[in-house]
Amino acid sequence: MAAFGPETGAVGWDWRVNGACREDGIDWDVFFTPSGRESATACRRREADAKSLCATCPVIRQCREHAETFGEKHGIWGGLTVDELAALSSRIRSA
Ligand code: SF4
Repeated sequence: MAAFGPETGAVGWDWRVNGACREDGIDWDVFFTPSGRESATACRRREADAKSLCATCPVIRQCREHAETFGEKHGIWGGLTVDELAALSSRIRSA
């Protein structure tokens, strides 16, 4: 989510200023697959680091809702990968 934010003028982004990932010193790279090759082990570690931060985030619900609403295709949002978000949305729709 590093490429977005209230400063871009996007509507409905107010919640983001309270995200745990907005705190100083946070490495936003953990939220996205790096360009180039990433081993499965490195991917698991990176995603676990991102999810650990999300687990402490006061706006985790809003972040997840945003990703679902806008169909985010990359990254960790609301403590879930986009594949996990898609699977969750699918289960909810079929329930
Ligand atoms: S849930 Fe995770 S990605 Fe979303 S704002 Fe919070 S820390 Fe950032």
